[in-house]
Amino acid sequence: MTTPRKVLILGAGVAGAILARRLSALPGLDVTCLERVAPDDHSEAGTGLNVGPNAIKALRACDPALAAEVCAQSLPWQSWRTSLADGTLLFDLPLARVADNAGIRIRWSELYRILRQGAGAAIRYGCEVSAIGPDPRDRQRTRVAWTQNGQHHTLDGIDLLIGTDGRYSATRAAFSGLPEARHVGVAILRVLVEDRSGGLVDDYEQWFNRHHRLLAFRVPPGHIYIAGTYPIDAGAPIPEDWKTPEAMRRAFLPEGREASPAVRWLVDALCAQAGEAHWARMQESEPRFAEPERQVLYLGDSAHGMAPTLGQGATQAMEDASCAAMLIEAAVRDQRLAVRPWLQAIEAARRERIRFAMDLSVRATDTLLQGADPVAGARWKTEAPFIGELSRLFRDVALGERA
Ligand SMILES: Cc1cc2nc3c(=O)[nH]c(=O)nc-3n(C[C@H](O)[C@H](O)[C@H](O)COP(=O)(O)OP(=O)(O)OC[C@H]3O[C@@H](n4cnc5c(N)ncnc54)[C@H](O)[C@@H]3O)c2cc1C
Repeated sequence: MTTPRKVLILGAGVAGAILARRLSALPGLDVTCLERVAPDDHSEAGTGLNVGPNAIKALRACDPALAAEVCAQSLPWQSWRTSLADGTLLFDLPLARVADNAGIRIRWSELYRILRQGAGAAIRYGCEVSAIGPDPRDRQRTRVAWTQNGQHHTLDGIDLLIGTDGRYSATRAAFSGLPEARHVGVAILRVLVEDRSGGLVDDYEQWFNRHHRLLAFRVPPGHIYIAGTYPIDAGAPIPEDWKTPEAMRRAFLPEGREASPAVRWLVDALCAQAGEAHWARMQESEPRFAEPERQVLYLGDSAHGMAPTLGQGATQAMEDASCAAMLIEAAVRDQRLAVRPWLQAIEAARRERIRFAMDLSVRATDTLLQGADPVAGARWKTEAPFIGELSRLFRDVALGERA
């Protein structure tokens, strides 16, 4: 009988929790998954997510029961409407035109809760990692040290280290350094508010006031997620005076015209919670899935930073995890236990797919840039080439060939 392969998954967010559930059920693997926060700590997941149809398609292929649970606790994302802030409709795209199934709308904390619960005892919470590095006794393997409940642990001889520790991945920093951020030139503010709109806001919708865009959708239970964007010089700090209710009204309400009732309600709701908004600058970073020297794999945000314009961050993290889980499961089932070919197969499946999703996300950001014309920007998004690319994004999930 062969010794089980030692797998350490670092970070149980979107990608890590899916993988922990799948891989810990495999008899050929000895899986440890470490998460920094406590099981009920969702302080870093305060907003809503629209998760693309492609993530649901991938998760259904990998883990139908988990996909059903995620869908049961969310609302379907079925359409994409874009209007001007006065309510003039620019386009209304049913996602059924470009996807095989709906996406979802969900609170981020709820997605974490479902995925982490799905992994059960496979995740160890409250782990403070103190060292990540090569195993000095072995050319391919790695070692990780951590403290949990005051007890110090070290695992060496790790056959496969999977960094699913998000955007500021300590795993990636340890082996190849954190990738440089490429700023897109857009600042984004996000907030989750109680739904008192009386039905004005439901499925995914965007409203433009020149180059400022509001985006909103309803998430269960009883909340509305609002995001607003501001063009900004790439890499410049976000000015503090943008964060006031007055500045938000100037940005999102049309001058000399009535705003639509939905926009009026959204701007009031945004201003009422101006102090709680989460601000960020859109950026992306160079993808990397596998380390060439060590058996280390990155998935989700640790593998690739993505402009959030098409809602593909958590979406691609789910696609990555589904792909990796399926390829590793098939390999273990067939007793193909050499780890390097798993890494090569995952990289081959995901590299071009991620470059495509990143590139499309940046191109779709055109209407958010300084001086953009939302009418022209919306027009090309209704034309065949973009519709074709959206269809490729939402339909052609890349789950790979056998490892
Ligand atoms: C405000 C906001 C709104 C967003 N909206 C959308 C959206 O609408 N649609 C969409 O698809 N994406 C969205 N995203 C992006 C999405 O949230 C991320 O792309 C996604 O969470 C990435 O998943 P992941 O598994 O790679 O990492 P994460 O979900 O970030 O998980 C990383 C995990 O690793 C843990 N961790 C980190 N470091 C360590 C360590 N040293 N030791 C142990 N554990 C560690 C963290 O606690 C966390 O649980 C949004 C992001 C933000 C910030």
